[in-house]
Amino acid sequence: MSLEIHFTRAGIHLPQLGLWLDARKRQRGSERVFVSHAHADHIAAHDEVMLTGATSLFMRTRLPGKRREHILNFGERMEFQFEHESFHLTALPAGHILGSAMAFIEWRGETLLYTGDFKLRPSLAAEPPETRRADTLIMETTFGLPRYQFPPGQTVRGDIAKFCRDALADGETPVLYAYSLGKSQEILRGLAEDGLPIQLHRHVRKMTKLYEKLGMNFPAHDAFDAETARGKIIIAPPNSLKTMQKVSLGKIRTAAITGWAMDSSCRYRSGTMEAFPLSDHADYDGLQELVKQVQPKKVFTVHGFTREFAQTLRAQGVDAVAPGWHEQMALL
Ligand SMILES: [Zn+2]
Repeated sequence: MSLEIHFTRAGIHLPQLGLWLDARKRQRGSERVFVSHAHADHIAAHDEVMLTGATSLFMRTRLPGKRREHILNFGERMEFQFEHESFHLTALPAGHILGSAMAFIEWRGETLLYTGDFKLRPSLAAEPPETRRADTLIMETTFGLPRYQFPPGQTVRGDIAKFCRDALADGETPVLYAYSLGKSQEILRGLAEDGLPIQLHRHVRKMTKLYEKLGMNFPAHDAFDAETARGKIIIAPPNSLKTMQKVSLGKIRTAAITGWAMDSSCRYRSGTMEAFPLSDHADYDGLQELVKQVQPKKVFTVHGFTREFAQTLRAQGVDAVAPGWHEQMALL
């Protein structure tokens, strides 16, 4: 008997184990959901979840309500039962945001690694990633095209700091747009050496406080205050762009902080003057590096340029496929 994997619109389902991987649709009843991290597209109000302590804290803040939780510690091999089956699940740090996890699953001598969102390069705001060899690999391929090769993080962080210093020197207010959970904290830490004044949009501040609760340190910063924000660096979520433009900050100089900055259309699409490619995802080289480390017999690509990256892997002799929705697949 081999492990069945169903790729559905509701999420990835392993019916023999009663297990969902990042189900998008709320799951109720006796089946469990592995929640890789707390970004909005990965969480729902499930009845029973398996997740790290940090993801639990973020998820409770973003999605209050009662649910049964199995807290996973990185590297701890945990046994779970479902009907007459038992399997082991080990959470491994995914390097995407704080608490983000890959799931390493062992069942009847077969192994499966599910990455969730991941980044192999060191991040200032996530645990160092760890991978394992596995028979089957289910991986995200958000940046699965060759043009998405990011410059070193240190270089980009230096560019962002220079952008801010230049704007301040010209009497303008730099506004950095970045996701409130994960990316904003990496930017904030990246600005530590400059000692510049920083204000955080309330959503960014809320998430940063949770990071602090989890033991991470940040350079001095204040809550955003329209009265005093002029001449400070503002970090705010992308969906606050219009609101921030309406607030009277004097002249503002805006930048989007995203892996999509590799596209020349990024500034136009984000409506900002600049764009810097600091990402919490693996770039094209990072995706290939993961496959080298895991040495899988079979790869399934999910999210982003799935077909293109599966094709790239096949050209290298790796058995890879981008599953369509509702397709049912069995392991080797
Ligand atoms: Zn994510």
